[in-house]
Amino acid sequence: MMSNERKVAIVTGASRGIGAAIARRLARDGMNVLVNFAGNVREAEALVREIEKADGHAITAQADVRDPAAVARMFDAAEAAFGGVDVLVNNAGIMKLATLAETDDATFDSQVAINLKGSFNTLREASRRLRNGGRIINISSSVVGLYQPTYAAYAATKAGVEAMTHILTKELRGRNITVNAVAPGPTATDLFLDGKPQEVIDRLANISPLERLGQPAEIAATVSFLAGPDGAWINGQTLHANGGAI
Ligand code: NAP
Repeated sequence: MMSNERKVAIVTGASRGIGAAIARRLARDGMNVLVNFAGNVREAEALVREIEKADGHAITAQADVRDPAAVARMFDAAEAAFGGVDVLVNNAGIMKLATLAETDDATFDSQVAINLKGSFNTLREASRRLRNGGRIINISSSVVGLYQPTYAAYAATKAGVEAMTHILTKELRGRNITVNAVAPGPTATDLFLDGKPQEVIDRLANISPLERLGQPAEIAATVSFLAGPDGAWINGQTLHANGGAI
């Protein structure tokens, strides 16, 4: 039987990378976790088994965050399994790099659809359905601020996510719900590593004065702080989890 006192967290894009680390961490913190994924059902199911083996509670839910109806069904699934939703972590995202001149329409549109509209879809649902006292954490990126060449479309979607973070903070006045963003720097996941030559990885690892990449568990620790009791007074902020890169 699930305890009624356990908080319930939805983590989007939790089959791999940072999202999987966040789901693992929030389950360890004692939350019931919905592990959302787009296509990688095997990884999502393996993560749920791992969480259950450690005496946690989790379910998987396939939902493409681009689709508002699928997002609504994902919230339905969390409510049906666990009785409500307290925490939304908006993590699902893609990154495609090219100079602005070389970014085609499909590349621009796909990032807007997943990173920006996807976050809008889940934020809208959460703002209607999150229980009072809840927490919303949006995963942005330190590229908002670094403004490196080739990141224009991707950084624009994340800047939009940060803008929604600040506005929703104010719109949720009276419900004791905090809304924050976490902006990782380069972090060792498929999204960051895929297709990059080693010298580019090394150069980007070195933008932090700590001279290394971030690890998914370190981003998850930042989210855990914001989602847990110690984060209660942090609201409307962007926390840069990037080893001092900016
Ligand atoms: P990742 O390893 O590529 O994982 C991406 C996750 O998002 C996967 O679970 C994937 O699901 C899911 N996803 C993709 N499209 C989706 C959709 N339409 N609907 C639902 N889920 C979808 O990426 P990551 O590095 O962990 O990135 C996680 C977040 O951190 C992203 O928002 C990214 O922009 C941000 N971030 C990453 C870095 C970095 O250096 N890694 C730095 C700053 C910010 P499937 O497995 O089913 O495809």
